[in-house]
Amino acid sequence: MTENHLFLKRARQKSGDDAHRIKIQKAISTYDTKVDEMIKRQFTDWQNARKSAAAIKEYALANLPDLLLEFEEKISKRGARVLWAETAQQARQFIGEIITRCGGQKIIKSKSMTSEEIGLNEFLAGQGIENWESDLGEFIVQLAGEKPYHIVTPAMHKSRSEIADLFAEKLGIERTDSAEELTMAARQHLRQAFVTADIGITGANFIIADAGAIVMMENEGNGRLGMACPKVHIVLVGIEKVLPRLGNLALFLPLLTTSGTGQQLTCYNSIVRGPELAPDSDGPEEMFVILLDNGRSDIYAQDDFRRLLHCIRCGACLNACPVFRTIGGHAYGTAYQGPIGSVVTPQLRGLAEWRHLAHASTLCGACSAVCPVDLDLHHLLLQTRRVAEKNRKSKFYWRMAMKIWAQCFRSRRAVELLRPILKLLLPVYKSILPAAKRRGIPQPAKKSFAQIMKQSQNSIKPERTDR
Ligand code: SF4
Repeated sequence: MTENHLFLKRARQKSGDDAHRIKIQKAISTYDTKVDEMIKRQFTDWQNARKSAAAIKEYALANLPDLLLEFEEKISKRGARVLWAETAQQARQFIGEIITRCGGQKIIKSKSMTSEEIGLNEFLAGQGIENWESDLGEFIVQLAGEKPYHIVTPAMHKSRSEIADLFAEKLGIERTDSAEELTMAARQHLRQAFVTADIGITGANFIIADAGAIVMMENEGNGRLGMACPKVHIVLVGIEKVLPRLGNLALFLPLLTTSGTGQQLTCYNSIVRGPELAPDSDGPEEMFVILLDNGRSDIYAQDDFRRLLHCIRCGACLNACPVFRTIGGHAYGTAYQGPIGSVVTPQLRGLAEWRHLAHASTLCGACSAVCPVDLDLHHLLLQTRRVAEKNRKSKFYWRMAMKIWAQCFRSRRAVELLRPILKLLLPVYKSILPAAKRRGIPQPAKKSFAQIMKQSQNSIKPERTDR
């Protein structure tokens, strides 16, 4: 089965699942309320904040090579080692080499979509390395043997009662519906993993050029613990995450938190500039920062898509998207879901196999309206469709049908002539189109809008004037 067929199969199944829809709508409506309130409380001019963030990202991209080199130079001076990974395979190889060199057997990971992008969990499992996800949501999906559902809230699709069943089965605890008790059970399990891990692997929300630092934002303290406890800390981060100055965080920290979770600020915000350094006696002995390209340079090289690299992975566009809300995150079959995933994935993993994702959108523009860095995602979705169609050799009958359709719809008269024919064909659509079979087809109006207008204009008699 192709990716397109798999996507359609999963989307069809989920869109008919009422229980799933209720869970997602509930989670997202709570999120919406919190975000609306926080935008009003925290920003005097939200639109201006978005535009400023976009301008900073634009500057960062325009100077990307220099800023990355500045970052490398500064963090290296404080003892960290920067590794440049061109591909996912190379990033996995670097991680494999570090693990072998330090004889690591146990890894504690904090939430990182970049690690999902490179298939790190599968790689570690293949090497026989014990690896625990330490973010609660990630831990839940790991126990369930699933992939993250959402880039910010990986277990959004699980109800409390489902988590209770899962913990009872996998952790061997007594079943409880109490959120506090469930969290404590996960905490107890993970505490052991933190103190016995040889290596901590984290992502980073930003890398700061002038400070030579990585920035991690989180709510559970697991990221901070995961990089401080083990002897070795590996950071895996995309090259587009660079910001020029430490001062930029004054805007980006509240911006990302407001859009990501509707909070004022995440509970733990760590700025890390290297491994343990005398006279400090804590922190990892070694720190590696893997700067991942994996197709980002190709995006960078395309004027029409470069701004895609502005994304700060807040997840707001997923929550706003009516398609995501209907089919859910797993239907996409990718590390990045929703509107941003539908534009990024064809770029990172190939247009030929993933172009169908660009059609998983109504183009309503809700994603663009909420994006904190002012990305016009619906235009990028359209642009992806355009490029994909240009590169594709579609079937002859399809090209002819599209040509005729385009020709007809350029002329009002042709549309009027076609109307009765299309009406006659209605039973045919109903029998061959899967969506029509499932949902039915609305009956076309007896008269077109143009006909009604014409009639009503004819029926308005000209006013008599006696002048
Ligand atoms: S495209 Fe915008 S809204 Fe979507 S995840 Fe990225 S920053 Fe957030």
